[in-house]
Amino acid sequence: SRPLLTSSAVLRAAAAAEEPDGRARPIQVLLVKDDHTFELDEAALSRILLSEEVRDREVVAISVAGAFRKGKSFLMDFMLRYMYNHASENWLGNPEEPLTGFSWRGGSERETTGIQIWSEVFLVDKPDGRKVAVLLMDTQGTFDSQSTLRDSATVFALSTMISSMQVYNISQNVQEDDLQHLQLFTEYGRLAMEETFLKPFQSMIFLVRDWSFPYEFPYGQEGGMKFLEKRLKNQHEELQNVRKHIHSCFTNISCFLMPHPGLKVATNPLFDGRIKEIDGEFINNLKVLVPWLLSPRNIDVKEINGSKITCRGLLEYFKAYIKIYQG
Ligand code: GDP
Ligand code: MG
Repeated sequence: SRPLLTSSAVLRAAAAAEEPDGRARPIQVLLVKDDHTFELDEAALSRILLSEEVRDREVVAISVAGAFRKGKSFLMDFMLRYMYNHASENWLGNPEEPLTGFSWRGGSERETTGIQIWSEVFLVDKPDGRKVAVLLMDTQGTFDSQSTLRDSATVFALSTMISSMQVYNISQNVQEDDLQHLQLFTEYGRLAMEETFLKPFQSMIFLVRDWSFPYEFPYGQEGGMKFLEKRLKNQHEELQNVRKHIHSCFTNISCFLMPHPGLKVATNPLFDGRIKEIDGEFINNLKVLVPWLLSPRNIDVKEINGSKITCRGLLEYFKAYIKIYQG
C-alpha cells in the first residue's frame, strides 16, 4: 500500500503553534547583514526544530538554493502543495487554485541573502515504517559583487551542510559562473569539514530551469544526467577540478532539466500561480520532479559521518557550523 503522510492536524501541531494566526509561513532563520555578519535567529530555529512532535525524529532536510528571481519559491510552493496533499496521486489539485506558500508575501519582500525555513515540519511515514521529519528550506544569494558572492557562498555552504538534499536552482544552462560559485562554496564547505572532521555533504541536484534544448538532452532526470556529465567534461582547465571536487564532496549528484513554464508565468504580474495558466509541458515535468524529490520512498534522512541526525541534532550542527564562519 502507498505510504501516507500523517494527518494535517498533527502536522499543524508540530511546528506552527507559535504563529500568532496559526498559519504556517517562511521563517528567516539566517540573515546576512549589510556589514557581512551573519545573524542566526536561534529562537525561531529552536521553535521549529525542538517542538515536541519532531525534535527526536530523524530529519530529512530539503534545501533549494540559488540566485534571486529564478523561480525557487514558485517551485517550493509546489513542493508544499505535494506535502499538504499527502503525496497523493492528485497532489496538484484544482487547476484554478492560486499558488501559495513561500511567495505569499509577494513583491513586498526585501531581497535578503540568507536561509528561510517553512515553519511547519512534516511528519512522513517511510515505506520501512519509520516516521521522519521533513524540513523545507529556501536559500538565497545575490551573487552580484565580490563581497556578496562571498556571503552567498557561505550561505550556500551552510545550507548544503545542514541539508540531506540540496537543489541548486539555475537558469537555462549550467554556466561557467554557476560552476565557479559551486567551486567556491564547496571550498567553504571543505573549510568546515577540516575544522569539524565531519563529512556533511549528501545529495546535490542541479535543477536547470527554462531548458531549451530538449532535442539534444530531453527534459527530466535522465537527460539531465547525460547533460551534466558532458557539461562537466567540457570546461576550461582551471575548472576541471570542480568536477573532481564536487564528486568527492557529495554522495549523490544528479541533474533535472525543466521546461519553460510559459509566458504568463514569466511575465504577467497578475499571474497567481494557477496551474491552468502554466504550460502543459512544465506541469508534466513537475509531476515527475516533485515526487522524485519528495516521495516518502525517495527522501533520505540527514547523515553526518554516517550517523542519522534528528531535528534536535540538526539544531546543534547548525549552530556549530555557523560559528566557523562567524570566526
Ligand atoms: P525566486 O526569487 O528564485 O524565489 O523566484 P520566484 O519563485 O519568486 O519567481 C520569480 C519570477 O519568475 C516570478 O515572476 C515567477 O512567476 C517566475 N518563474 C517561476 N518559475 C519560473 C521558471 O521556471 N522560468 C521562468 N522563466 N520564470 C519562472
Ligand atoms: Mg524566493
